[in-house]
Amino acid sequence: MRKAYLTPIGIYLRDCFDYFKMNRTIMNREANKLMKKWCIEHETTRCELCGNDNFLSFAHRQKRVDYHSIEELSNPKEFLLLCVPCHQKIEYSREKTKEVFAKLRGGILKSVL
Ligand SMILES: [Zn+2]
Repeated sequence: MRKAYLTPIGIYLRDCFDYFKMNRTIMNREANKLMKKWCIEHETTRCELCGNDNFLSFAHRQKRVDYHSIEELSNPKEFLLLCVPCHQKIEYSREKTKEVFAKLRGGILKSVL
């Protein structure tokens, strides 16, 4: 097989991409730790919509790639603890996401933050 040849600009772009990917991974991992910590401290250990305690995941107000720091990503105003079925219900609808965030993060967090 012919060895892949990269021009300097190709190498530069590949390195940028790797760096970006690595940063994302670290960012997500660190943010996940902070989100878990917040949930435990605030006794949020079940799906915030239906109370299910299985298959939990973090749902964000925006796509994860739209956040640029661990702090933004793990801000309790920006995420919910949801089970996978509830997460899927809101994930593909901007309106539904907005509605659920308003309902669950509308006022109660003002005292916390
Ligand atoms: Zn649920």
